[in-house]
Amino acid sequence: MTGVTHKTILVTGASSGIGEATARELAKAGASLFIGARRADRLEKLAAELGEHVAYRVLDVTDGADFEAFTEAAEARFGRIDALVNNAGVMPLSPLAALKREEWARMIDVNIHGVLNGIAAVLPRFVAQASGHVVNVASIGAHLVVPTGAVYCATKYAVWAITEGLRQEHDDIRATVISPGVVATELGNDITDPQVADALKVWRQKSLTPDAIARAIRYALEQPEGVDVNEVIVRPTAAG
Ligand code: NDP
Repeated sequence: MTGVTHKTILVTGASSGIGEATARELAKAGASLFIGARRADRLEKLAAELGEHVAYRVLDVTDGADFEAFTEAAEARFGRIDALVNNAGVMPLSPLAALKREEWARMIDVNIHGVLNGIAAVLPRFVAQASGHVVNVASIGAHLVVPTGAVYCATKYAVWAITEGLRQEHDDIRATVISPGVVATELGNDITDPQVADALKVWRQKSLTPDAIARAIRYALEQPEGVDVNEVIVRPTAAG
């Protein structure tokens, strides 16, 4: 089967940015969507706008039991699960010397444990049905380390490695890593160092809009079962 029409796809971090754009793009393509994030008001509004094939549940990806409950709720609503887009992420950048241990822990928890919790929730189902697709949103920071990005980039290198490991372990489950360059979203709004926040504003002067990444995710998901798009890197043309 090709395309995403009538497939059930879970999307995390759908309350803003790339996740929200992905939900819009996949709904347009005819998928049934189960979307999650922590901000219920945003999810409710988006689901209402996108129609009856889009349902939501509040989800904290750092909580494995919550991710399992999210997956069960999606299955109860749509009958089966065909794909998971692990998109939720945080990026409170800072230099290591600032010793922002809580922010390091938060990035590791959301960006790595969140992805693993998603895989843990869907993998037994995908193994049982001998098909499924995990799309993990990493970053260009999975390939190069940017200033003040030591921990953030480490989490994205980890997402890259986890995706590749998943791909190697299963012949009937697809695994894709999407690596965006700079995209204009709310990411980094939680940066606490004013100088780093200013630097992000400069990077954002050359940025993509989230729909560019949503189209890459749709492209990977729409391929026939036998085609696994391993990675897509998408950067602004002017990124240099
Ligand atoms: P946004 O800040 O707009 O979106 C991040 C999403 O993650 C939000 O929906 C947020 O929802 C959700 N989220 C954060 N923490 C949790 C949590 N604990 N549980 C569930 N959901 C959570 O940023 P982007 O759209 O830019 O980010 C999406 C992904 O793209 C991230 O993985 C990011 O690292 C990656 N990326 C982004 C780039 C960019 O330049 N913007 C570049 C490269 C990669 P809520 O707060 O409601 O929970």
